[in-house]
Formats: sequence, structure tokens, C-alpha cells
Amino acid sequence: MWLLNYPKVQKWTCTKPPRGADSQKDVKKGIFVGTCYTVAEGLRFEYLGGYGTISCGDCDFSQDITSFTHGPSSSTAGYQCHTCGKFTTRTRKKPFRRPDPADRDKSLSELAPDARPSRIEDLQSSIRLGEREMQETPKRDWHPTWVSKVAECRRELSTVTEDELQNMEKKREEVAQAYEASLFCACGGGLERDKTLFCPSCRSNNLRYGHEHST
Ligand SMILES: [Zn+2]
Ligand SMILES: [Zn+2]
Repeated sequence: MWLLNYPKVQKWTCTKPPRGADSQKDVKKGIFVGTCYTVAEGLRFEYLGGYGTISCGDCDFSQDITSFTHGPSSSTAGYQCHTCGKFTTRTRKKPFRRPDPADRDKSLSELAPDARPSRIEDLQSSIRLGEREMQETPKRDWHPTWVSKVAECRRELSTVTEDELQNMEKKREEVAQAYEASLFCACGGGLERDKTLFCPSCRSNNLRYGHEHST
């Protein structure tokens, strides 16, 4: 099986396993071990790929878990209740409807009201990116379209009212707060994603993770 029992490594030398890490060399360095790794200081969700199996080295606990996956309009993240130890997931929806491909060539004013926010966010990020690019690049190396592209985005964005921007901000906050409020287990314990994982059955930190696929 893929879940090999490699010797426990001393310490992580990087925060995330690099893609396609060379197994044997990296076992020694304490980095990623092919499709399975174990780490002396304990597993955390941030080290784990999209979806895989966690198993305990000290008892027979084993469970398939989702660490993190994302789809076009939502993402799903793994959590552990630090009271009862249960592994679970929570899904975060994006606050605004994603752009419809049929809308791609329409201008902002031609879009339906619920299609506007994601376009407005696009315009805002195009402006930010364009301005940063121009700041970091000597003027003689600017791409000929940068200035006009940023100006065009600004022109379109200038038609958006302060009210609409504030409503978008309110919606973002509502969605974020609803998500925060969902981060509790049925037992009443808080769900955590940033702490070292432990076995729900025997509470050992000696966990191993078999990475099945990224999504
Ligand atoms: Zn719980
Ligand atoms: Zn255990």
C-alpha cells in the first residue's frame, strides 16, 4: 500500500511539501515522502493535500478526510474539533455569483444586477495588478496596452455608485461572519485548522497521512 512506515523525520524544513518532491532524498531532509508523510512535530491541515486518509500510529484509527478542495463557487476545508477530536469539514461559499461565460463580452452596464459584483471585483483587481506592474517596471518596458487597459477599467468602475460598493462590502462581511459562526462542533467545541492534529480515538499526535489526490 501507499501508506508506508517511513522513519519519523526530525523536523520540517519547509512549511508545505513541494510538488513532485523526490521521495528518498526528501525523506532524509524531512520533506515530502512520495504520497505519504509523517512528521515529528505532528501533522497539520496546512501540510496535507486535498483529500486523503489519516491513520494513527498508536491505535487502529483511520479516516478519509478532506484537507482543502475548491470549486468554482465555494471551497471546502478540513477542521478538527479540539474538544472531542472529530474531523469534519466546512464549506465556504463565495459571496458573489461567479461570472457567466455568456456575459464575458458585455460591459458592466449591460450586466444583470447579480452579475455586477464579480465584474466589479475583476475591475478592481485588474487596476491593482496593472498599477503594481507599472510601478515595478521601468517605463520603457511597459507593455503598450497597460496604460489604456487601466484607464478603461477605471472608466468602467467610475460608473459604480458608492452604495453598490458598500452593499458588496456588507455582503462580504455577512458571508464571512456566517462562516465564522459555523466553526463549531456538535459537541460545542471550537473547530480548528491551524493546530497540530491528534487522533480522535487515543489522542496521540502520531498520525500519518496518505495523500490520494489534489483537487
Ligand atoms: Zn466536538
Ligand atoms: Zn490513535
